[in-house]
Amino acid sequence: MLAEDISSLDSTNVCDVLVIGGGPAGSTSAALLAERGHSVTLLEKARHPRFHIGESLLPANLQLFEKLGLKDEIHAIGMEKWGAEFISPWHDYTQEFEFADAWDKSMPFAYQVRRSEFDEILIRNAARKGASVIEGCRVSDVEFLPNAGGAVIRGQHDDGRAAAWRTRFVVDASGRNTFLGNRFKIKRPNPKHNSAAIYGHFAGVQRHCGKKEGNITILWFDHGWFWLIPLSDGSTSIGATTWPYYMKTRGRRSVEQFFFDTIALCPPLVERLQGAKLVSEVEGTGNFSYACGHSHGPNYILLGDAYAFIDPVFSSGVFLAMNSAFAGADAIDTHLRHPGRSAASFAHFDKVMRHGPREFSWFIYRITNPTMRDLFMRPSNSLRMKEALLSMLAGDIYGKTPIWRSLIALKAIYYFVSLVNLRRTVSAWRRRKSNILAVDDAGVASN
Ligand SMILES: Cc1cc2nc3c(=O)[nH]c(=O)nc-3n(C[C@H](O)[C@H](O)[C@H](O)COP(=O)(O)OP(=O)(O)OC[C@H]3O[C@@H](n4cnc5c(N)ncnc54)[C@H](O)[C@@H]3O)c2cc1C
Repeated sequence: MLAEDISSLDSTNVCDVLVIGGGPAGSTSAALLAERGHSVTLLEKARHPRFHIGESLLPANLQLFEKLGLKDEIHAIGMEKWGAEFISPWHDYTQEFEFADAWDKSMPFAYQVRRSEFDEILIRNAARKGASVIEGCRVSDVEFLPNAGGAVIRGQHDDGRAAAWRTRFVVDASGRNTFLGNRFKIKRPNPKHNSAAIYGHFAGVQRHCGKKEGNITILWFDHGWFWLIPLSDGSTSIGATTWPYYMKTRGRRSVEQFFFDTIALCPPLVERLQGAKLVSEVEGTGNFSYACGHSHGPNYILLGDAYAFIDPVFSSGVFLAMNSAFAGADAIDTHLRHPGRSAASFAHFDKVMRHGPREFSWFIYRITNPTMRDLFMRPSNSLRMKEALLSMLAGDIYGKTPIWRSLIALKAIYYFVSLVNLRRTVSAWRRRKSNILAVDDAGVASN
């Protein structure tokens, strides 16, 4: 169908906003915009419930659930996560953090969730709020019309039918598929970071007792780090995030065997897995550290992973995706109602989009560095640095909590300690430089 033929579209295929993708970003933006009276169509290529990785949430997510009216539904499926535990082979003790010790004591916990359940709650909420949700429909093409005339989106239903929609505005929330990023050729691999991951679900993993049962455990090992995320149905998500070169060492081993061999490199994890059983496929993914050159353009915005993703270590992905949807919905609402105020509202949206990845990335790039590891394993609260760090790790980076001076102090100490241990710093910097090099084949299936 050509743009000239769009007048033939029936009115059900005409909308104010078309959202590509029904993950946390897409479903949140669809719900918010429909609630504000815009006609919204959301196209999702899969059918919910569907598997997705990314199960550990941040305390700052909770206020977003509340605004969406989903607090109780998420509580019903979530495992409470009151903190995190770090285990390092270079230290003979473990370090525990509790979100209750953050600067703002009012957000002391988060949830671990099965994404199939969590994402389904969000997409059904979008439909309940009035969005037209179409699952099993993959967006295949977009044509932006001249003179800010909106766009024509083409898609294919999973029974083979083709369809087209005319929309005033396009939201790309297609996650790591980066639909518009690819189309506009604005997606760039992150020059400062590169990692890959393999993961699966286990039954019978040893858990901590009481309030600590749902805490995430991060375990460093020679080639990266593991996550251990307890879920509310008794199973546990375990994954290894490693440098790309390590994935290449898989050779002819099956992904499952490679995963078990990798786990064997981390004795404290092996201990927690005594008697446990793998209850899912083992999956892998790579090339997930990237950003798009811009977050919006005439009649479109990019949300969540469709704009940028860096690394899962601080469990920030779902929060940043949902928060971007709130900021995006405000900007689109202003644009559609008061076009004269568009520029200012999209400039604010862009600021929000850049802020999260920038603040988290400073820590992500350094988390496998020995100096940063020492700071994490021996955190000091002088100048309220530990409280500020915990607030950041809780996702409390968009409000008024005054953590920034304390974080600058923490960064200054990091640079000072790096300087004092210059030889160690230079050798870690060299190692990291070669670790982040891309390999032709990360050795794992990409999803
Ligand atoms: C190994 C790993 C571990 C992670 N762990 C965590 C974690 O513990 N905590 C956390 O917060 N984050 C984690 N993340 C990140 C998290 O998964 C993402 O940041 C989050 O899912 C982003 O949400 P989104 O809505 O932007 O994209 P997604 O959740 O990926 O949703 C995008 C949706 O778009 C659909 N779609 C794609 N293309 C099309 C198309 N052409 N047409 C129609 N539909 C389409 C997809 O089917 C999908 O449903 C992890 C990521 C990785 C790689």
